[in-house]
Amino acid sequence: MSGAGSKKVAVVAGDGIGPEVIESALAVLDGAGAKFERVPVEIGLARWKRTGLAMAEEDLAALKECDCILFGAISTPPDPNYESVLLRIRKELDLYANIRPFQSQDLDFIIVRENTEGLYSGLEEVGVEESRTLRVITRRGSQRIAEIACDLAIARRKLTIIHKSNALKSDCLFLETCRAVAVRRGVPYEDMLVDAAAYNLVINPKRFDVLVTTNLFGDILSDEAAGVIGSLGLCSSANLGSDHALFEPIHGSAPDIAGKGIANPVGAIRSAAMMMQWLGEPKKARLIEAAVQKALACGAKTPDLGGKCRTREVTEAVVDCMEIF
Ligand code: ATP
Repeated sequence: MSGAGSKKVAVVAGDGIGPEVIESALAVLDGAGAKFERVPVEIGLARWKRTGLAMAEEDLAALKECDCILFGAISTPPDPNYESVLLRIRKELDLYANIRPFQSQDLDFIIVRENTEGLYSGLEEVGVEESRTLRVITRRGSQRIAEIACDLAIARRKLTIIHKSNALKSDCLFLETCRAVAVRRGVPYEDMLVDAAAYNLVINPKRFDVLVTTNLFGDILSDEAAGVIGSLGLCSSANLGSDHALFEPIHGSAPDIAGKGIANPVGAIRSAAMMMQWLGEPKKARLIEAAVQKALACGAKTPDLGGKCRTREVTEAVVDCMEIF
């Protein structure tokens, strides 16, 4: 891929702390000398309050038209019939692979979460006495997420396939399909029940390298992994499809701290680094990640990490660290 210079990036700041952390990510991208056209797209709760729509068809078209999306966080409108906007974007753009790296001083593992099916199929029947959600696992969906996980694992140590096939028949297909891909690709693998994985993530997280799993399990294990690393605010993600990509911190809009200027911007900054990697600028991606690590090591930490810094101060520290390298 050529450099990011001629690229168009849709910027969805969103709600809550979304705009605060996206402002930081953009400041760091500027500091790294990243060049791309920014296309602001207003999506989310604030937009819903203003217009009655959290996302219009034109917004979806604008997202599709850009090379990729830098996304903050959005709050869901308080209407039980409203479909989650982020789920809709993931489905419409077929962003089937959610890549979530977790890094700290002594930990380094990646959760690869299937992003479009499983219990987030959207196939639901809601009743007064009984409600159902259909868990959809397909061979195609399992195969393509396993391929992405193997792409990552092949350059690393091993793959762990996380499932609950002893209780959920649908997971037999997921497990069998992932195993077959790992065998074909020559990737060392093991499999593990999701409850055991949840336990092991706390007891011995170093045993993990690349984990691949279904939608809901990946969602829950990711927040657990963030806790193991130290804070949701540190963690980034890429949502990848064949034609589109969306980069976002794994945290939500955190309304409890929105507007206070204390949100940890590192997850959003790291998401921006993942975006630069994807846009074909690996040097800028490495520069940003190295600056984040240096800034954290120097004590530039927001309150979620036990520090006293404000969002702006952490951002400035990361930008200053990039100048040193
Ligand atoms: P969602 O449903 O959108 O995932 P959530 O309410 O489950 O959202 P978050 O919005 O991510 O979860 O917030 C969970 C907790 O983590 C909150 O207490 C929030 O303040 C904290 N938190 C999340 N992101 C950050 C951040 N960047 N910096 C500091 N604290 C954060």
